[in-house]
Amino acid sequence: QQTAGAQRARAEIDLGAVRANVRTLRERAPRAELMAVMKSDGYGHGAIPCARAARQAGAGWLGTATPEEALALRAAGDQGRIMCWLWTPGSPWQQAIEQDIDVSAGARWALREIVAAAREAGRPARVHLKADTGLGRGGCPPGAWPDLVAAARAAEAEGALKVTGIWSHFACADEPGHPANAAQLEAFRAALAVAERAGLDPETRHLANSPATLTLPESHFDLVRTGVSVYGLSPSPEVGTAEGLGLRPAMTLSASIALVKQVPGGHGVSYGHHYRTSGDTSLALVPLGYGDGIPRHASGSGPVLVAGKWRTVAGRVAMDQFVIDLGGDQVAEGERAVLFGEGRQGEPTAEDWARAAGTISYEIVTRISPRVPRVYV
Ligand code: PLP
Repeated sequence: QQTAGAQRARAEIDLGAVRANVRTLRERAPRAELMAVMKSDGYGHGAIPCARAARQAGAGWLGTATPEEALALRAAGDQGRIMCWLWTPGSPWQQAIEQDIDVSAGARWALREIVAAAREAGRPARVHLKADTGLGRGGCPPGAWPDLVAAARAAEAEGALKVTGIWSHFACADEPGHPANAAQLEAFRAALAVAERAGLDPETRHLANSPATLTLPESHFDLVRTGVSVYGLSPSPEVGTAEGLGLRPAMTLSASIALVKQVPGGHGVSYGHHYRTSGDTSLALVPLGYGDGIPRHASGSGPVLVAGKWRTVAGRVAMDQFVIDLGGDQVAEGERAVLFGEGRQGEPTAEDWARAAGTISYEIVTRISPRVPRVYV
């Protein structure tokens, strides 16, 4: 059955690639469990189907940023361990506790809300204490850590919660030689030691994201939290190419050429006329634009495979469409334009688009909007 709208454009998601990537990552961290990170709708790939595929390949955990993302996975029938880390005052803690979702606390206010919600729920919360070991984003700074740990220990003694995890997040793991990595590892060990001395005994200590999973085995501890690599993308050129890392990009984005027309030399193309044809040529209209998540920053630079050749976005990316200059090549309406995919059939990759748009491949796939149907293969 054809997904509505998929003849215009579609993002094909290869769930076999997701399974293969999870297996590859588990081999890279053989003593740790694997968390497949499903935030932002599975980095744009569709959290629910990708979560199922990841579980089939042995992901013991799923991770999300928002509680709504975690609750949606439960509502879809996932019965395994799920952890969620982005909480704000008034978040649906009680629902998460009732749904057996592991929550995170990096500050005293969060512990207070968790204890109150656990009382309402009539069962202890499963809590991962978050230390800021140097990222400078979420988590408890070292100066306040002993106090947070003591408060958690007291709440544990009262039966309001169980500290199931202690965790932190890297700032620079995508640059394997960066001195912050060793410093964060040391700070994490110090945070664990403080917790242990206070009588906490968490079953799950975790620090590594994809780049650390792939390059820093000392950081694996009990669990690795892998996101971008589950979807087959390399975290950064410094970590390696997807192919070199044994990863298979899961998303292929393509569109059907909507119009081909002949124009003379000197013809301006798209808003602002930032491109002009250099001679008689044909232009092809690709029905995808920034409303679909195609970065406008890739105007004049985004690569597209059409009829066996790489072409470049001519002029500006508009909300719903962009144009490519076919030179003298014969191409018919309805032929496919492949923006990115695995790269094995000569098509560009999400990394090529990231370079063209001055961003990272994470953003390229995550921003493909809901208007583009996901087709699972
Ligand atoms: N853990 C946390 C807390 C995150 O926010 C993320 C995503 O940024 C990840 C793990 C996964 O990171 P990556 O996609 O680099 O594997």
